[in-house]
Amino acid sequence: MRVGLFGGSFNPIHFGHLRSAEEDREALKLDLVYFVPAASPPHKAEGELAPAEHRLQLVRLATKGNRHFMVSDVEVRRVGRSYTIDTARHFLQTLRQPATLFLIMGADAFADLETWKEADALVTLCSLVVHARLDEREFTHGGGPVAVLQRFGYSKVQDHYVHPSGQTLSFLQTTILPISATSIREKLRRKESIRYLMPGDAEDYIERHSLY
Ligand code: ATP
Repeated sequence: MRVGLFGGSFNPIHFGHLRSAEEDREALKLDLVYFVPAASPPHKAEGELAPAEHRLQLVRLATKGNRHFMVSDVEVRRVGRSYTIDTARHFLQTLRQPATLFLIMGADAFADLETWKEADALVTLCSLVVHARLDEREFTHGGGPVAVLQRFGYSKVQDHYVHPSGQTLSFLQTTILPISATSIREKLRRKESIRYLMPGDAEDYIERHSLY
């Protein structure tokens, strides 16, 4: 079974997350994609973070109706900071069928990979799927992605990269939707509309619970 893991603060989830995950799923022929909201993401200040239960519920509402999309509360239930290495180990131990894990992330997250806890172990446990987030030049700009590839010892094979462990890394050109949770929170603060930036059910939930 081919299983995608898509982690993030999802504060809140939006169409940028959903569309890229759908295209990643299709391109990599993933059977399932698990959205994994972080309780307390290591790279984010907590000030603006809505309570984890609300962010989890928003992800549930937003992914409802896609039979390939699952939601995991494993990081929300775990005490302390959310580390992807712990989540990857959890999935490898608990999935009912033997699975290949694919970590899904935007190019901005990939650029920071070296700072992730036990990153060297993580790239031996999972394959990586990286999509551009704001601009396709994110893949070619400066030394960014190249430096990360070299740092972890990936080598190019046809249209993707392979780690010495055999795990792969693919850069995918998904539809660019330059939406960010930050811009959504700003709009809400200014009492502006966030319609059509996320599924309607999620938008209604934010309004009902006066989030952000
Ligand atoms: P914030 O604005 O609060 O920093 P965010 O919109 O960047 O939030 P995160 O929850 O931090 O969302 O992102 C989770 C993952 O989704 C990251 O790998 C990030 O690169 C990716 N991602 C976020 N926004 C988009 C987007 N518009 N298109 C594609 N991928 C995205």
